[in-house]
Amino acid sequence: MITYRIAVADPNAHLYRVTLKVPRPAPEQRLSLPVWIPGSYMVREFARHLSGFDAKQGTRTVALQQLDKTTWLARCESTATLELSYLVYAFDTSVRAAFLSSERGFFNGTSLCLRVEGREAEPHGVELGALPRGWQAATAMRAVQVDANGRGSYEAADYDELVDHPFELGRFWRGSFTAHGVPHEFVVAGAWPGFDGERLLADSKRICEAEIEFWHGRKKPPFERYVFMLNAVDDGYGGLEHRASTALIAARRDLPRANQKELSDGYVTLLGLISHEYFHTWNVKRLKPSELARIDYSRENHTELLWFFEGFTSYYDDLLLLRAGLIDAPRYLKLVAKTINGVLGSPGRQAQSVAQSSFDAWTRYYRQDENTPNSTVSYYTKGSLVALALDLTIRSAGHHGSLDDVMRALWGKSGGGPITQADIAQALHDAAGRSLEHELQQWVHGCEDLPLTALLEAAGISSKNDAAPFAQRVGLRVSEGALTGVQVKSVLRGSAAERAGLSPGDELLAVNGWRVRRVDDALQWLAPQAAAELLAVRDGRVLTLQLDTASAADAGSSYTLSLADKAAGAALALRRGWLGV
Ligand SMILES: [Zn+2]
Repeated sequence: MITYRIAVADPNAHLYRVTLKVPRPAPEQRLSLPVWIPGSYMVREFARHLSGFDAKQGTRTVALQQLDKTTWLARCESTATLELSYLVYAFDTSVRAAFLSSERGFFNGTSLCLRVEGREAEPHGVELGALPRGWQAATAMRAVQVDANGRGSYEAADYDELVDHPFELGRFWRGSFTAHGVPHEFVVAGAWPGFDGERLLADSKRICEAEIEFWHGRKKPPFERYVFMLNAVDDGYGGLEHRASTALIAARRDLPRANQKELSDGYVTLLGLISHEYFHTWNVKRLKPSELARIDYSRENHTELLWFFEGFTSYYDDLLLLRAGLIDAPRYLKLVAKTINGVLGSPGRQAQSVAQSSFDAWTRYYRQDENTPNSTVSYYTKGSLVALALDLTIRSAGHHGSLDDVMRALWGKSGGGPITQADIAQALHDAAGRSLEHELQQWVHGCEDLPLTALLEAAGISSKNDAAPFAQRVGLRVSEGALTGVQVKSVLRGSAAERAGLSPGDELLAVNGWRVRRVDDALQWLAPQAAAELLAVRDGRVLTLQLDTASAADAGSSYTLSLADKAAGAALALRRGWLGV
């Protein structure tokens, strides 16, 4: 069996030592590291962190030739085992790569495990070598022989499975629960002492049970065991889905605190993240775009369907918090309104459809810059609104269907496997009792705004549109800090700020002769008239610019949603079916 021995070589230098053993290698054996990690659609070229190669067969040194940025060729004798050893520099604090310090370790196989080309379908083993004193290991990979701390040997059925099981290493908090008979483990690294682990376990269990029921009713889910790995940091947010685990990052202050009764916005965000990544266990890890049925680790793998796999997952992550009883309907509507305002606040929604944005994820969504709000629409946020619009459309079609039926039909028909947009269109047709091709064309492949206010009204939800914050209305995205001042991050397309000549990178010093500390206060207090004189610094030079604030009056929007008091008849029935109230 192909095996990787993974050892902590030097935590202070952030180095792992990997020793790969390949029995019966090819005479010209190619070995390559993935350039991306599935679930995070960007070429990251992990191989740039590899060094110190040493290849041998028995006592014979094997010649190793580098072929390109990520591939090596070993000239071998086919009878003896190839033993290849190398160092991996690991200091990436995200969930997408590998990390090692004196406090903690984390790795994905895509960062550490060279792919033995031609042998991907064989079983792959992992042996965890010596770890610093007191460290434990957590992973969802099948353990072959491990001690109480998780040190020992693990096995995956093939290379895809090997790199789909990240490992968390260190002195972490550990808890467990069962959801519909399936054991779940939750490890948390870096939490403050006042962290309420039992609360986190209880709330996560409710999410997991709601999602298992969503897909399978009382039947078992398609995994034997599941592991949540959460790294609590000073500031951060993110997650990456895997077939039987997820790696999460959250701010420490967002974890539940002992004796905390209220649900903080930060904790709701964390529960939403847990719900999101867990939902992916079905939607993208098993049900997946047909283009990703076979993963090509050497290049971009384009699909137009991330609006479905990320967007619909984003729709259900918060909705399932409501169904699990963790948030109420008003809180849920607040989250929906925030998403609507985010989408309407980005001119990029008129430049790109969510299908295009999915395809371009590799070079746009994942490589954001100052022009991103103008050129790109998020397939997460707009995709979740497409799901909302389709759900309400199906529910109002009088066919007793919902988007839930669409998800379950897709799961049933594909056997939890690859699907295409035609499959989605068919499942929508079946649930609504009529074709929704026209809606898909407009909402997924078009750039016009979704008819959400009308759909929500028909579902017993009132919407109120107040003036957007002033900075949004004049077309500015800024960062504000006591030391850095007001820095322009983005200037929105067609806005008053753009007409005034402001550029990303400008520092805003003063408005109408007054020093600016917070841009929204400054513009509201200092520039209520038709025009304002701005003082800005660009590349060391002070500029005076004229801002026409009158033209900004109607720009942007700020929706709030609420349960309509007078909802009755069909609208009330629809709302009860959808939100339970
Ligand atoms: Zn996601």
